[in-house]
Amino acid sequence: MSSAAPADSEALRQSIIDACLEMNETGLNQGTSGNISHRIAGDAMLVTPSGVPYAQMTPDMIVRLPLHQSFSLADQPVAPSSEWRFHRDLLVARPDVMAVVHAHPAHCCALAVNHMSIPPCHYMVAAFGGGDVPLADYALFGTQELSENVVRAMDNRQGCLMANHGALVCGDTLAKAMWRMVELESLAKTYVLARSIGDPVLLSEDQIAEALAAFATYGLKTR
Ligand SMILES: [Zn+2]
Repeated sequence: MSSAAPADSEALRQSIIDACLEMNETGLNQGTSGNISHRIAGDAMLVTPSGVPYAQMTPDMIVRLPLHQSFSLADQPVAPSSEWRFHRDLLVARPDVMAVVHAHPAHCCALAVNHMSIPPCHYMVAAFGGGDVPLADYALFGTQELSENVVRAMDNRQGCLMANHGALVCGDTLAKAMWRMVELESLAKTYVLARSIGDPVLLSEDQIAEALAAFATYGLKTR
């Protein structure tokens, strides 16, 4: 199921920067609050640096960290995203995941601030692996506790909301993860709008199971 991780390369590093720029251009993210990681060969990951505006990011600033080996943050020439822990821990916990994307999209955040998960209000919920898009419990940004909360919420899921914080998605490619972030914010917007005008009608377990099976059959290429 999991394909081989690509080698570290300038092209891969650039694709991470391009994805960051795309998140801000499309309004999915603001400022430098989003961060992205990609599994690479050699039991390691690439992760975006801390606090660098995306427009100023260059491939050499993308930080390479080991997945299983211990390391010293002080030894890194560029500081990794303060959220490197959940990126690393998710890649360790989920061999099927190649890329992790985290952002603060407005409608995802609105739900997360209310400690709401996304129920099966639309068949696209199934694109996240089950009958809901769960909510990871709150913990301070950058902490091991937040990482553990995220990994727990992501059990059998491809995306989650993060209480009082934002959203996180993964994929077996960076493009798939980026597609999921767009879809998650769209789903969150739909759910927020639907609740504002009425009482959303939820899909049944059978209907979600049917959508999950259809996604498994057709893959997630969609459209
Ligand atoms: Zn964040």
